[in-house]
Amino acid sequence: MKFQDYYQTLGVARNASPDDIKRTYRKLAKEWHPDRHPPHRRAEVETKFKQIAEAHEVLSDPEKRKRFDQLGEHWRQGQDFQAPPGGGGRTMSQEDFARMFGGGVGGGGQSGGGGFSDFFGQMFGDMFAGGGRGSRTQRARPQPSRGQDVEAALELSVGEALRGGKRTFDLQVSQPCEACEGEGHADMGTCPVCGGLGSTRATRSIELSIPVEVRDGQVLRLRGLGQPGAGAAGDLLLQLHLVADDVHRLRGEDVEADLVIAPWEALDGTKASVRVPNGTATVRIPAGTRAGARLRLRGQGLVRPSGERGDLIVVVRFGLPDTLDEAQQTMLRELGRTAGPVRGGVREP
Ligand SMILES: [Zn+2]
Repeated sequence: MKFQDYYQTLGVARNASPDDIKRTYRKLAKEWHPDRHPPHRRAEVETKFKQIAEAHEVLSDPEKRKRFDQLGEHWRQGQDFQAPPGGGGRTMSQEDFARMFGGGVGGGGQSGGGGFSDFFGQMFGDMFAGGGRGSRTQRARPQPSRGQDVEAALELSVGEALRGGKRTFDLQVSQPCEACEGEGHADMGTCPVCGGLGSTRATRSIELSIPVEVRDGQVLRLRGLGQPGAGAAGDLLLQLHLVADDVHRLRGEDVEADLVIAPWEALDGTKASVRVPNGTATVRIPAGTRAGARLRLRGQGLVRPSGERGDLIVVVRFGLPDTLDEAQQTMLRELGRTAGPVRGGVREP
């Protein structure tokens, strides 16, 4: 399956506003409408028109656009593509598609018909992956009753997001009551196990692989972790919230993190090892660095919506060793007697 760059199809920037996308789509849809071109170009024009419609369908829907953006920028138009696991989502039905585009698209010409591409089907649900090749008059396949999707939120610290890896969390789920098989009543009357609700609460432990392109507010679709159903289980829509920890915090699209050094290290300069997303980096602290100084490590932060990594901004703080013996304490007191006042933070002069 080939990757489709929907931004390239519409010729808009990756950060284009919804209005820009709408405007560009309208202009292109008019330009490439099959009625406006001679019949001998029909196949080519229809293909182009369908690509534009598909790009608009994805980029005009915040959820689909977010999911598409998660793939990042490193994909190029036409490159071989494997959909990441855990994808999918609701998509428009073939009837919707036919209604929107009338006879112009979808099985109309000799071009082989079809709605959206296989790439789209893989990205946004199974419905179109097979059905898209059918004719326009064919009705959408009936869906076996699928369990409901469940929404939940999970807080990740900025440090965890930066480190990546796995995170296990507990989720409270509702499951059909086994005693009454979800009926809510037994022979004697109301089911005592579930109190007539037909469902019971349970705690489920879920292991999440923190996505490389994790970002605040992102919604992950975890396949089959929603409510069980007669057919497949529903999905878990997990919204991630990035929260500051003792060391890391978000600063716009970058991450800010504290780095503690001793005052004497700042005096003559030093080198410090800093944990970054793919290992460690060595940071050179120049001589005479003051507390509060900021050093920017380019490309060592979280992945931005554009697909490239943001920066890690290291903020220099001063610290002392955990223990100081008598002689060392005496030296510090001597320093205090002659040194000027220390200022900073919320301290009043
Ligand atoms: Zn019950």
